Amino acid sequence: MKPVCVLGNGQLGRMLRQAGESLGIKVYPIGLDAKLETIPYQESIITTEIECWPETILTRKLAKQETFINRDIFSCLADRMKQKELLDNLGLPTAPWLFLENTEQYKKIFTIFNQFVIVKRRTGGYDGHGQWRLNQGEQYHLPLDIYGKSIIEQGINFSAEVSLIGARSNKERLVFYPLTSNLHKEGILRISVTIPQLSKKLQQKAETMLSMIMKKLNYIGVMTMECFIDGNNLLVNELAPRVHNSGHWTQNGASISQFELHLRAILNLPLPKPVVNSPSVMINLIGTPINYAWLSLPLIHLHWYEKEARVGRKLGHLNMTDLNTKRLSSALIKLAPLLPNEYQHSINWAIQKLSSILGS
Ligand code: ATP
Ligand code: MG
Repeated sequence: MKPVCVLGNGQLGRMLRQAGESLGIKVYPIGLDAKLETIPYQESIITTEIECWPETILTRKLAKQETFINRDIFSCLADRMKQKELLDNLGLPTAPWLFLENTEQYKKIFTIFNQFVIVKRRTGGYDGHGQWRLNQGEQYHLPLDIYGKSIIEQGINFSAEVSLIGARSNKERLVFYPLTSNLHKEGILRISVTIPQLSKKLQQKAETMLSMIMKKLNYIGVMTMECFIDGNNLLVNELAPRVHNSGHWTQNGASISQFELHLRAILNLPLPKPVVNSPSVMINLIGTPINYAWLSLPLIHLHWYEKEARVGRKLGHLNMTDLNTKRLSSALIKLAPLLPNEYQHSINWAIQKLSSILGS
């Protein structure tokens, strides 16, 4: 089997490497500062854990390789404006948006969007960086360099946020995981809950939407679609052409993890639909030092990234899966005192999500 080079050496590259190990596939995550001559890029399939990268000798060379999967679509998907245009062209609903060119537009914007708005840089944002939530009058605090380089969206008072992760092979086979419910705070994903078969209708709707996107782009591999639920509507928030934080639960809660699924799709290996029988919870460990007391709980799977600790930085995650929802909820209750106070809200949110299927 051909080796795989992953552009980027963060936690996603690390977990792709780990998934490759059990399949006997060598996966090389590549830092942006790596030396070209140390990388086996000529005999490898190339993929990426990031959608936006600086022009360097290394990235220019990789971007020239025919074996760089999906190479020509990153310029579209890494730019929020082009992403929105793609969704508009496909007729897929999003939050109403405009290209933000100058400060003169605000008067009109606050009239037509008629509630809070969100300014987002077209490129380079992540985990809420490069975006500002504004009410009328608050626009004066924004940096001046955003104009001409950002979009502005209507704020959506969504009832829930969900993501759909799917994969497409070069034989045009499409497979999906069940929808995942996500809780964000300050633009950062805190916790995810996946309940298989929660809503057949919503699942079908989301699968149809993501299928349209992947087909249109002739995309190969795992793609993630983040959505808001607004009344009966599913609005696409953003697309990630890669494995995604909200899919980390698949490492322990699905028969094939999103990392393995991506490797299978890009290497032309069989791509059966992953089997998911049990609800799962994934808790992001953000700025929290490792605590081996977590391992005293039998349902916990700890995934630690061995990154330098920093406030607000994703350092690892905890996965929990159980067919018995009550047992999953009581494990969350036992876990709560082993985490800092700020996790309490997320844990309560997850318990509430799980309780929606308890009586069913
Ligand atoms: P990621 O880490 O997923 O790449 P990001 O920083 O690129 O995130 P978004 O996903 O666009 O940015 O926004 C982060 C979060 O901010 C969303 O998950 C959602 O909670 C909130 N948000 C973004 N856009 C809107 C909107 N139009 N209305 C309401 N909330 C929004
Ligand atoms: Mg997002």
